Amino acid sequence: MLRAFTTTRRVLVPVNGQIRLHSTTSHPKFGFALDIDGVLIKGNRVLPQARRALKLLDGENSTGKKIPFVLLTNGGGVTEEQKAAQMSRKLDLDVSNIPVCIEKVAFNISHSRKQILPSQIVLSHSPMQSLVKRYKHTPVLVVGGRGDSCRTVAEKYVIILLIIYGFQRVIQPADIHHWEKSIWPFSRVTDEEAFEAQKRFDFSREPIEAIMMFHDSRDWGLDLQIIMDVLRSKNGIIGTQRHNYNVQDTPIFFSNLWSNEYPSPRYGQGAFKTALEAIYKRHTGKDLESTSFGKPHKATYQYAETILDSLLPDKVKLQRVFAVGDNPAADIAGANAYGWTSVLVKTGIFDGKGNSEEFPADVVCEDIEEAVHWALSQEGLK
Ligand SMILES: [Mg+2]
Repeated sequence: MLRAFTTTRRVLVPVNGQIRLHSTTSHPKFGFALDIDGVLIKGNRVLPQARRALKLLDGENSTGKKIPFVLLTNGGGVTEEQKAAQMSRKLDLDVSNIPVCIEKVAFNISHSRKQILPSQIVLSHSPMQSLVKRYKHTPVLVVGGRGDSCRTVAEKYVIILLIIYGFQRVIQPADIHHWEKSIWPFSRVTDEEAFEAQKRFDFSREPIEAIMMFHDSRDWGLDLQIIMDVLRSKNGIIGTQRHNYNVQDTPIFFSNLWSNEYPSPRYGQGAFKTALEAIYKRHTGKDLESTSFGKPHKATYQYAETILDSLLPDKVKLQRVFAVGDNPAADIAGANAYGWTSVLVKTGIFDGKGNSEEFPADVVCEDIEEAVHWALSQEGLK
């Protein structure tokens, strides 16, 4: 049984639009960023060490104090709410009452309901929430994922849970393809996608102001074509052509780098980006300018740190983050570059001896449970 915040009375109040815990007792000033695949889960199997490690973080340690953590993954294509429910279910936590309003959040915190909250999930595209301020009311092209799944994510707006994408004018390549079939003759829009598309815009009048890849492309040909049509257009208006490419009008954001159990590299979003860069260079003579989110990119760590800080009482400042991961090139490289304490575990991609030669971690542990014990000992806890 996980233990509650029993040492003090805590109240949830919104502060500057964010929910924070108020407390008068001392609280740990550190937190954890845990990778999911290869750390908590292997294939479809939850590692037993993961359940024990999360209990340690949930207060079953020598002090009875909860330690804030986020699950930091390069996965995506679902909402943080869906991922939180999925992870709570996999980890045998309570999913009967994933909170949807502030009263339920307060109830869950104060009674220590055992579940992962959506605000504890940092997906590859979660940092794109920081773009909403700029693009909330303007058309943005959201690329990737199955069907309408990424549109659903991009439009999601639930302020209480800090799921605050809320893009209001989301366009997907299928919308444009439905509007003008000759734009790419080798794909067809499904009835379901066309239904959505019919409700959309006249693209000869709507300037697309940003391109966001929320997940891997399911149709490289169509997606590459339409992204290039936007990048080569005047001010993002499909069907127009620019005269020079000295300045790139439309920014493009990527989100995702991944690997799986297959023993050689898979050509996912990283390869898509490489292909797009090559086509862009061929047509414009210029290098494509882009911003990448997801591990190991800095923006993702900044975002995760903001979330961890928000999970602490408002007078407590986050001073240290332990990042636990299995992928040296993503988890460890990103954590080291951002100044976090990196812990490499051997339950996933890295199963070698010693440390990673290319991206050495601060410490190597057998698994997540050993990693958490080591981190707690560094902070004077057991
Ligand atoms: Mg991993």
